[in-house]
Amino acid sequence: MKPIEVLKKYYGYDSFRGQQESIIRQVLEKKDCIALMPTGAGKSVCYQVPAMVLPGLTLVVSPLIALMKDQVDAMNEIGIPAAFLNSTMDISEQRHVSDQAMNGGIKLLYVAPERLFSGGYPLVNALKEMNLSLVAVDEAHCVSQWGHDFRPEYLKLGALRKAFPETPFLALTATADKLTRQDIASRLSLNKPEWFISSFDRPNITYRVALRSDAFGKLVDFLHLRPNDSGIVYCLSRKSVEATASKLNANGFSALPYHAGLSKDIRQENQEKFIKDEVKIIVATIAFGMGIDKSNVRFVVHTNMPQNIESYYQETGRAGRDGLPGEALLFYSLGDSITLRRMIESAENEDYVKHMKAKMNTMVQFCQTKSCRRRYLLNYFGEEYPQDCGNCDVCFQKNNKSDMTVFSQMLLSAVVRLGQQFGLGHVILVLRGSQAAKVTESQKSLSVYGIGKDRSEDFWKRLGFQLIAEGYLLQEDPKMPVLKLSDLGWEKLKLKEKFLLSMEEEVFKRTESST
Ligand code: ADP
Ligand code: ZN
Repeated sequence: MKPIEVLKKYYGYDSFRGQQESIIRQVLEKKDCIALMPTGAGKSVCYQVPAMVLPGLTLVVSPLIALMKDQVDAMNEIGIPAAFLNSTMDISEQRHVSDQAMNGGIKLLYVAPERLFSGGYPLVNALKEMNLSLVAVDEAHCVSQWGHDFRPEYLKLGALRKAFPETPFLALTATADKLTRQDIASRLSLNKPEWFISSFDRPNITYRVALRSDAFGKLVDFLHLRPNDSGIVYCLSRKSVEATASKLNANGFSALPYHAGLSKDIRQENQEKFIKDEVKIIVATIAFGMGIDKSNVRFVVHTNMPQNIESYYQETGRAGRDGLPGEALLFYSLGDSITLRRMIESAENEDYVKHMKAKMNTMVQFCQTKSCRRRYLLNYFGEEYPQDCGNCDVCFQKNNKSDMTVFSQMLLSAVVRLGQQFGLGHVILVLRGSQAAKVTESQKSLSVYGIGKDRSEDFWKRLGFQLIAEGYLLQEDPKMPVLKLSDLGWEKLKLKEKFLLSMEEEVFKRTESST
């Protein structure tokens, strides 16, 4: 079968995406390849399709033992015979799988790297007897100590490469800076690998960074605005995971914790509930989410600054894998770098510590940048992105001059109707049709009474502040904050001109019901 036929038959997709087709072509020509593709781009297809085209077995090396079962189940469900081997299985189960691999009963075999060279029955020997067509190394950045997720077992894969000089190797990763990239090629002993570097842009993700003062309050407001969305809230420690999850529940959200201190059963159960949308929010340490295939994660919140851009990019990449809008919200404070520095300094290798500190400083710069965050991220990964993205907090602040004409006219008219004798608070009460005793019967009979009731009090406050800041409204006496129209305000109102104002973002603000 041709690759495109496999794609159609088993996956039901009509065409390949991005560089999938070129990667597959190279693999089928027995060339070593390195594919750098962002999360969600469809890395698995790049080795699963060749696995069905090639005559023998495809070995998939992955560090994520916890996910192998899910991946294999998913394969089997669409009719692709696959199995996994790991140390939690007893000897007879492992034998059974090896036999299947040997007699062609499966096309894909997933293993953790440690399983290849150790155990009573090292797989590398058995592989000689299996007709090995392709080796896919997933999460290939784990081979590099410059990466953020170094796993020593990965270093042994170089030996695997040498044991199978004729078999093509495909290394895949969603994240790798320049040093790590070079490392992948050399440490895996790849043979003149072809590089495939896809754009790392995730245009559907909105990036935001906020200071951590009152982070929980801001988080609650953020979640209130997204009552039907499901998402991940990352915390630094087990303790803060527990605390945040229970505070969220106390605030009426359904949230479950996930961290290494919970029993395996509980972790599995919580993860399952999240994946099945039975619970909307999972509060987790970064242990959660690696490779989890949940496409409708709408937001990823970091309550602390991640150690480096790679981690941040990878973790936020779990939002919006279905292509629909996703949001990344990061809370940070300068204290974060102190905590992280302490964690980094506990490592022994001096070079490594230095390298990690430099990476962390770049993360701090990302948090503090006053220019487009997406550009910063993409430049970090070596991509040019000259324009502003228009989809990050910095860009929003720069160019969100919204057309506030109708609302401004309402507010200015209310000020006039009230005889220019009241402050903003009272004007808002009238606009929103408040029943408060302060609002007199004659004010209730004004034409402006209640005309702004479908907008929150907060909205009107921000609009009022903007109208003051832009000089349309005057608040002359700070002790008696009575609003008056300026000449500019009168003129604009009379000429029916547009009010283009930069409104602060509404991302944390709760829409209140009318008072
Ligand atoms: P990655 O491992 O790169 O994060 P996956 O391999 O999990 O990404 O794929 C992400 C999603 O994209 C999956 O739901 C997958 O089925 C889908 N996908 C992959 N290739 C295609 C394609 N050619 N057309 C449509 N959807 C695809
Ligand atoms: Zn931007």
